[in-house]
Amino acid sequence: MALIVQKYGGTSVGSVERIQSVARKVKTVHDSGGQVVVVVSAMSGETNRLIGLAHAIQPRPTPRELDVLLSTGEQVTIALLTMALEETGCPARSYTGGQVHILTDSAHNKARIRDIDGARVRADLDAGRVVVVAGFQGVDAEGNITTLGRGGSDTTAVAMAAALQADECQIYTDVDGVYTTDPRIEPRARRLDRITFEEMLEMASLGSKVLQIRAVEFAGKYNVPLRVLSSFEEGPGTLITFEEDAMEQARISGIAFNRDEAKLTIRGVPDQPGVAHKIVGPVADANIEVDMIVQNIAADTTTDFTFTVNRSDYPHALEILRRTADELGAREVLGDDGIVKISLVGVGMRSHSGIASRMFAALAAEGINIQMISTSEIKISVVVAEKYLELGVRALHEAFSLAA
Ligand code: ASP
Ligand code: MG
Repeated sequence: MALIVQKYGGTSVGSVERIQSVARKVKTVHDSGGQVVVVVSAMSGETNRLIGLAHAIQPRPTPRELDVLLSTGEQVTIALLTMALEETGCPARSYTGGQVHILTDSAHNKARIRDIDGARVRADLDAGRVVVVAGFQGVDAEGNITTLGRGGSDTTAVAMAAALQADECQIYTDVDGVYTTDPRIEPRARRLDRITFEEMLEMASLGSKVLQIRAVEFAGKYNVPLRVLSSFEEGPGTLITFEEDAMEQARISGIAFNRDEAKLTIRGVPDQPGVAHKIVGPVADANIEVDMIVQNIAADTTTDFTFTVNRSDYPHALEILRRTADELGAREVLGDDGIVKISLVGVGMRSHSGIASRMFAALAAEGINIQMISTSEIKISVVVAEKYLELGVRALHEAFSLAA
């Protein structure tokens, strides 16, 4: 008997009607003999609404309390979907993350799943029930409610699939698969039939909102077959594959971008061992993820150091960096939260040269100034001013002939 984990995102459960239509879909699988675990997000807009409430009271909400608040979004959906399933005559039961022992670490607002005890879920499945689990949440060892970071329901779904050794993890969303780039920016973007885990990981970490990055990491690590599909239209979606196709790979699979970026520079720090650590250490200790890092060649005995962080971490990172600057006797601290990152992604890059120069030429032709560059085996990223985002993405989509 096939065991499928299905995850429905916020838009897919955004209204009573949509919840009912999800229930009908789930019932079809159940009626044909499949075992189904459904993981749901909060109804669309709900998580943002709750965050807004918190910010109306605290400029920087207490992480623990924010998790208590945010976890309610998903709790609403599990109950409603289970009621809808019961109304269709499909036996079902809902569980919060804590109730099915989704054990996480204690990093509130961005907790990582450590362990899931599938026993309770299995017992329900064996009794012929559909199991509906709240995405995005868990509990730590002390029983505190935690959440997994924005988009975390994907990770819940993949982790459930791994724990239950499901046959497939299907992520139902408002798009019908993974695209060469965001169709809202480039209408000629094309759906990919398949993409490798590696590429998907890059796309996700670079800001493609289709799947949460931790979900992709998890799926890769535990060999969970993963598929992204639309909850509104029929179609094969995009399969995330393990092996690269034997056929010739496209050089570039997609263009990812991230609007949520901010850049910080500390100027005139001593050019000596330990300084990079002194700069990045306190930022990392504050649980802020540092992304691109550039240290310039020292012109004298001092050097400049620039790094990027998530825009929401910008004020906090700036505060920390100013303190570091005082300690190090740095010349000044500069910041810019009006930047974006645009990246080309493709495993085919490995075997083709000249990709970077073509990328830079395409941006130059549009008069777009590149502020920072970083590369890996399968991607090239540039930081540019925010106002160039759309133009840059379209220019690159065109330059690499990605259109349908
Ligand atoms: N509701 C959470 C969010 O909006 C988790 C999710 O939807 O995956 O980020
Ligand atoms: Mg989501």
